[in-house]
Amino acid sequence: MQRRDLLGFGLGAAAFTMAESALNHGQALAEEGKTTPYPLKACHPAEPLQALMDGNARFVAFEKRYRQAGSPRERERLMGQYWQDNCHLHGDVLANGQQPWAGIITCADSRLPTSWIFDVNPGQLFVVRSAGNTAFDDGVASMEYAVAVLGVPLIMVLGHSSCGAVAAALSDEPLTPLLSQLVEPIRTAMPTGGDVLALEQAIEKNVQASVTALTEKSDVLAQAVEANSLRIVGGVYNIRTGRVELV
Ligand SMILES: [Zn+2]
Repeated sequence: MQRRDLLGFGLGAAAFTMAESALNHGQALAEEGKTTPYPLKACHPAEPLQALMDGNARFVAFEKRYRQAGSPRERERLMGQYWQDNCHLHGDVLANGQQPWAGIITCADSRLPTSWIFDVNPGQLFVVRSAGNTAFDDGVASMEYAVAVLGVPLIMVLGHSSCGAVAAALSDEPLTPLLSQLVEPIRTAMPTGGDVLALEQAIEKNVQASVTALTEKSDVLAQAVEANSLRIVGGVYNIRTGRVELV
């Protein structure tokens, strides 16, 4: 599958050329012995899903140590360590393009700092957010761009515990017209026949529905999955523990 074919009118080719140029720029910097040796792909893991889960395990461990730290100085030391252990891409390289290795569709909730919970730095995750992490049209279109142009091999739909949007979808409380529209896909994902799910189950069900909707709505994503160049998974982030579990 050609990127140009997928998106038409040369947009894909132009953006890809830009990314290639940034890769070369990174290599050139390295050869010159400048401050960064990293080209754009330097942080690409061999196994993207494993890398996300490993990054999350580091975050959980960091959070635990951070909470137990006895002094501000100790917290500062832990924070410094946490960042230094990461793969950093130089701003000069990022200014010329991006080649993220995972796409995340997640909730707008303020308690999900995406890069933090997967322990990654700028240039690595392509993130789409809206309350309730549904597969809304603009979000799916953004992921088409991520996959077809930027070559992202993995998308994770990430829900979370205590999601207010899912709670609103389960409730009879009146909503504004736009909010009703926003939670409609969540309501559609729930079982019919009067069964009301507990919030935790509804959160999982909503994630699974978004995973399914991505390939139902988008031929680009469906074809990439078919061609084994894309994997789509669902996960739920536990706000209390910081842990992501696949669902
Ligand atoms: Zn939420």
